[in-house]
Amino acid sequence: MTLLVDPFNRRIRYLRLSVTDRCDMRCVYCMAEDMQFLPKASVLSLEELARIARLFVSLGVEKIRLTGGEPLVRQNLVWLVRELTGLEGLRELAMTSNGTRLAAMATELREAGLQRLNISLDSLHPARFREMTRVGDLDAVLAGIAAAHAAGFSGIKLNSVILRGRNDDEVADLVAFACAHACDISFIEEMPLGRIDEHDRRESLVTSAEIRERLAASFDLRPSTESTGGPSRYWRVAGSETRVGFISPHSHNFCGDCNRVRVTVEGRLLLCLGNEHSLDLRALMREQGASDEALREAIVEALQLKPERHHFDDADAPKIVRFMSMTGG
Ligand code: SAM
Ligand code: SF4
Repeated sequence: MTLLVDPFNRRIRYLRLSVTDRCDMRCVYCMAEDMQFLPKASVLSLEELARIARLFVSLGVEKIRLTGGEPLVRQNLVWLVRELTGLEGLRELAMTSNGTRLAAMATELREAGLQRLNISLDSLHPARFREMTRVGDLDAVLAGIAAAHAAGFSGIKLNSVILRGRNDDEVADLVAFACAHACDISFIEEMPLGRIDEHDRRESLVTSAEIRERLAASFDLRPSTESTGGPSRYWRVAGSETRVGFISPHSHNFCGDCNRVRVTVEGRLLLCLGNEHSLDLRALMREQGASDEALREAIVEALQLKPERHHFDDADAPKIVRFMSMTGG
């Protein structure tokens, strides 16, 4: 079997597949308030998404994460979940969700074979949650987390983006919540993706080191060597099952062991979160009617474009104008 290996000898085992650019929230670090979403014709059909997933699995990808935008606003997503769980060679199908629709959908997703869920949760105060997400309803997300547990999802991970002056005083409460609800939690440094006018990202950045220091006042955090195959570095909260992860694109470059690529909902294979190198799979499929074999060859070749690292902290580096919701977080 041909496997995906980049020029730095990194084996690609993990695909993040964006199923929509749309969302029912407008988080201040992720989207502009008046987002222009893609016309339907630009977006891959569920069948095209399934085809791409199948090709990547045939090239040795073992883990797929469905993301977006908010995956659960995509119509008939459960069909796609069912298609993917049937793929031989796929070890894990995961999803990152904002949780708003999980109360209604968790059981169906579980029954369709979805194995893991990451749920974003930035604040435990309803008014503040609303401010950070512009429109979000904290109760709906909390109900979604409860429903995910009830549906049998285990190893749920919460994701929190921490912004100075907005929710940096909540890091200990968020960890306590994770412990009380048998979840892991990852704190994510805000990344400079897309142009936002809401706040100055240089001022809002709270580094992982600072968060860890704050947590040390309330928790005994023990370094852990565990990895879930993503960019988080983990610590375990002594006396609980909860792990605290830190995704630190600024303070720790996580590129050295990068094992992943992304496909946007327009079918652009992105080789790196922080660079624009890409391959247009949609054009190959729709305009050139490429066969599976031709697509596989193009993907293998595109891997040669995978850069060694991102340059989020290099002031001279080209800025990424894609929003995270377009990239597939
Ligand atoms: N809508 C889903 C959600 O919010 O979980 C999935 C897509 S979202 C783009 C995936 C993750 O990216 C979320 O955890 C979100 O907090 C994070 N994210 C979005 N914009 C970001 C940014 N500029 N920097 C760091 N993380 C970001
Ligand atoms: Fe939507 Fe997720 Fe972006 Fe928030 S982070 S606006 S929930 S896509």
